[in-house]
Formats: sequence, C-alpha cells, structure tokens
Amino acid sequence: MVTHLHDAFRPASIHVLLWLALMLCSMMPAWGEPVPGSLPAQWNVGAEDCAKSSQPPLQVHAYEPQTFILRQNLCASFEGNFIYLLIGSDKALLIDTGAIEDTQKMPLAKTILELLPEKDQKKLPLLVAHTHRHLDHRAGDPQFTALPSVQVVPIDLDGIRAFFGFTNWPNGIAHLDLGGRTVEVIPTPGHNQTHLAFYDDRTGILFSGDFLMPGRLLIEDAAAYRESALRVIDFLKSRSLTHVLGGHIELDTAGDAIGFGSHYHPNEHRLELAREDLNALPKAFKGFNGFYARYPNYILTNPIRNLIALAVIAVAVLILIGWGVRRLLRRRRRG
Ligand SMILES: [Zn+2]
Ligand SMILES: [Zn+2]
Repeated sequence: MVTHLHDAFRPASIHVLLWLALMLCSMMPAWGEPVPGSLPAQWNVGAEDCAKSSQPPLQVHAYEPQTFILRQNLCASFEGNFIYLLIGSDKALLIDTGAIEDTQKMPLAKTILELLPEKDQKKLPLLVAHTHRHLDHRAGDPQFTALPSVQVVPIDLDGIRAFFGFTNWPNGIAHLDLGGRTVEVIPTPGHNQTHLAFYDDRTGILFSGDFLMPGRLLIEDAAAYRESALRVIDFLKSRSLTHVLGGHIELDTAGDAIGFGSHYHPNEHRLELAREDLNALPKAFKGFNGFYARYPNYILTNPIRNLIALAVIAVAVLILIGWGVRRLLRRRRRG
C-alpha cells in the first residue's frame, strides 16, 4: 500500500521539482549574465519654443526595477544631462547631479528620494558621486548635502582619490558594494583630470560621463585620454558590456553635431554606445590632427587648440587688413 502511494506520488513530485527549477531559471539571469533592461527609442527632445513646452523638468526612465535613468529637460538646460540611479540592497548610488541647482526648476533630490526604497523604515542610504567636476555634472549637489543618510563625494582630485582609495592614480580600480551589486570605479582622465567611469556588474553598463558619449568629446589632455581608453578596454575584456551610457547627446541620427546651446534636439542620436565605439577610441586618438575629427558616433575636438587657431587666424587677418590699408593710403598719397 505504502509503495503504491509512493509510486503514485513520485512522478508528480519530480514534475513539480522540474517545474520549480525551470521557473527559477527563467526568473533569474544565468550566473554572470547582466540583468536585462530597456532604453527608450527617443528621449524628450526639448522644444523649439520652450515657453510653450509642457515637458517635465526630469524624464525618469526605469531601465529595470533597480536602475533609473533621468534626463534633464533640454528647456531647463541645453546640456540635457543624463543622471543615473543604481539601487542595491544596502545602498544606492547616484552618478552626477546635473546642470541645475534650483530645486524649483529642477526637483532632482525630491525625485531621487521618491525612487529610493525603504529599509528598516528608513530611506536607503545614498552615495552621490560624479563622473567629473564640470559644473553641469554637479550643480545639483547642494540639493543633497543637507539630507540625512546622503554622502556626497568631493569634486577635487585629492578628495576623489582619498574617498575611493586610489593610491596610484590613474591606475587601479575602486569597488563600491551596494549590496548584491558591485560598481567598479575606473579613473578616466583626459576630458577632465577628475574623470571617472563606473561599471555596474548587475546590468553590465559602463556609465561613461563625458569620456565617451554620442557628442563632442572635448579633449583637455589627449595622451591621458588615449591611455584612459586603453585602460577601460582592458578592464572590460573579461566582462560583459551591454551599453555605454554617457552624460549627454549632442549628435543627430545622421551623426552631425546639434548646434551648441540648442534647447531642441529633433532626430536625436540614440544615447547608448557599444564596445566597438570604445574600441575605436585609441585609434581615433592616434590619427587625431589635434583640432577636429568626426567618427560615426562621436566627434573628437580640442576646444582650447581650436580657440588658439581661431585667434591666430584672426590676428593674421587683422595684419593683412592693416597692411592693405597702409598700401592703399600710400598709393592715394602718391596719387
Ligand atoms: Zn565635461
Ligand atoms: Zn558634460
């Protein structure tokens, strides 16, 4: 009787176990595989007439339940910064605070606090870090400094090195443990000496700030920039990379630069770049003429050099005009 019952039960229990295992497998990504997420085909594009625009100051997009992408409205700031919120089980990380300090114009801290889950009846502690010290990536800091359980990483190089424990800058990698999610911090000077990139092991995304984005890669130090690209490529060799997400979009779908300072980005290029774009960077620097070079998904440019070149041309033109006028006056006098 007992054996009979067992026999009747066995196939069913094996089925249940198999079904459970299958369910678990389908719910969880394979070990080491990044958690999948989605990106919008088009972000808010600002407006031709911002006075008539009713777009919210922040566009909030859930890439997946624990990863949020926020875009500052192009009408609020032509920079249209992208800000990233990564939520772990113990802590959350905010990458950049955008171009606007005013809480009325840009309710960033309020929005972030609403997105933060609670743990032990308190909001999850938040770490605010920056890709680099340029004002459009940290102007929102004052909205966070007075909040409880929020820590803001310093913006000066010494402060950054001390905070993350970099002893051999720009070499070495720092690790941020958010609880079930590790973010690795990679020094990437070149656009700015304080620049950092963040690699998230949960989503496989590299958050690249102004170091790599569909826009003008403004070069402060070309040699350092190229070295940074080589270091990041090397770092990512053994890791899966789903997307490279930067700080701005400054190109259209054809790869042409959108006018500097424009509050309207029709036909905007997609935000996400890929490993190929990163891998092409060192070679792009090798062939760079020092002024301007266009690639499918970014433009290399050295604003200081271009300014100097422009000044030299302006002086040359002025000298030529002066020489011409003098000649004309002499001829008249002779006449
Ligand atoms: Zn910058
Ligand atoms: Zn920027």
